[in-house]
Amino acid sequence: MIGNKTLTIIKPMAVKKGFIGPILTKINEAGFRISAMKYLQLTVEEAKAFYDEHRLKPFYDDLVAFMSSGPIVVAIIEKENAVEEYRHLIGPTDPAKAPEGSIRRLYGTNLQQNGVHGSDSDISAERECNFFFSALERY
Ligand code: ATP
Ligand code: MG
Repeated sequence: MIGNKTLTIIKPMAVKKGFIGPILTKINEAGFRISAMKYLQLTVEEAKAFYDEHRLKPFYDDLVAFMSSGPIVVAIIEKENAVEEYRHLIGPTDPAKAPEGSIRRLYGTNLQQNGVHGSDSDISAERECNFFFSALERY
């Protein structure tokens, strides 16, 4: 249902640092329902496709290399007004600028390795959920 779901990715550095559990706990405590989840490593080509909107940005090649560098956790999480609620919970892109207690402040390392991804609109959420999950993988 558009408006009630968003896609999150626990990025490679946060997985490496052992933050899967703490991040999922924050998501649970904020009242999101997990309706789909998987643990996987993106190929370079898959990371390029996922971040295609950024292909002309100076940070694109490094971002693709980073996002394909190790396993990630991908999940569809649901709550009323999910996109906005989740972006509030994670904080702004740069962990150094994120408020105390936000996921990126707690579990991000730097601007690129900022802990998690969150969809930026309902249209992006729809596209991103379909990128990772078939109808049969959603509950
Ligand atoms: P995300 O899409 O991952 O939720 P966002 O919407 O806050 O993050 P975007 O502008 O979509 O930020 O950038 C996508 C990702 O690219 C960021 O999360 C970060 O990992 C990386 N990134 C963005 N800006 C920079 C930058 N100036 N230098 C390095 N990496 C960056
Ligand atoms: Mg974004």
